[in-house]
Amino acid sequence: MKLESLPRFHLAEFPTPIHHLETLSKAYNGPEIYIKRDDLTSLGMGGNKTRKLEFLIGEALELGKDTLVTTGGIQSNHCRLTAAAAKKAKLGCHLVLSGTEPKVPNGNLLLDKIFGAKIHFCDRKDRDEMLFQVADELAKTNKNPYVIPIGGSNSIGSVGYVNAMLELKLQLKDLDITPDAIVFATSSGGTQAGLALGAKITGFKGDILGISIDQNKIGSDPFPPVLTKIANATAERIESDIRMTESDFALNCEYLGAGYAMPGDLEFNAIKDLSFHEGILLGPVYTARAMGGLLNLIQKDYFTKDQKILFWHTGGTPELFAWADQCHEVFG
Ligand SMILES: *Cc1c(COP(=O)(O)O)cnc(C)c1O
Repeated sequence: MKLESLPRFHLAEFPTPIHHLETLSKAYNGPEIYIKRDDLTSLGMGGNKTRKLEFLIGEALELGKDTLVTTGGIQSNHCRLTAAAAKKAKLGCHLVLSGTEPKVPNGNLLLDKIFGAKIHFCDRKDRDEMLFQVADELAKTNKNPYVIPIGGSNSIGSVGYVNAMLELKLQLKDLDITPDAIVFATSSGGTQAGLALGAKITGFKGDILGISIDQNKIGSDPFPPVLTKIANATAERIESDIRMTESDFALNCEYLGAGYAMPGDLEFNAIKDLSFHEGILLGPVYTARAMGGLLNLIQKDYFTKDQKILFWHTGGTPELFAWADQCHEVFG
């Protein structure tokens, strides 16, 4: 497998820790819950995009690029980590963010500015067009831009999560635990594609269950074909013979709530459970929705008491400060 020889730029210390959430597991009287702390990747307040960016920036540097250009919502964790990683790699960074510029930036947007990213605001519908427009403009001024797709979810970024499964395998052996399922937030797909492919490569037998943040299984824009496409392109890139089909992806779309970045009771209750029982923070957009979904599944006896579940914490805690008003209502 070609994974080890792909260009990679070091951004954080690995492996990230695994903890047993003893108090939370007892409180729910269900399976034993463990947590993999990718919120603690040691760059710019952490998160899952760090693993993808190690390979994306590795390629950008190999191609002699000098400026990263990417896109996301105004509170994008991916954009914040791209801005932080750009500094470490001595690259410029332009962010195309959908939303309107607030008077006082907070959460990830504040961090984007602290990391010195150049920000372009636009409407959600113009985001992709604007991304390439910004890159074209940069090229005209003698820059050499490297465009990263939303969430860093392509066959390069996804390698980071195949690699994460190799990391997990060694860790689980040391800890002597065999999770029956890995549960995590899924949205642009690179994380799930990498984890599912990595599970096949490492022979991991448990479920790889993505809790959808904003994607649907069916409808006009179904998610399973997206996952399949990223995973198979990733397999080709690392020269693995494995090919995935849509049925290889376990996806739960029952916790979409009021929509993307619209947290409600499910999310704030999960934030409360993790902070009060374990002293661990979740972000209202992604990880609180995924943990809320997991806890709801436990309440519905989806898992049995003798099982072990690994919640893969994908980060996003800086989102908390952008939802200060709602947090104040709940915790105030
Ligand atoms: C981007 C993100 C996800 C989803 O990962 P994808 O690879 O885009 O599916 C989950 N959690 C957090 C905190 C994120 O920022």
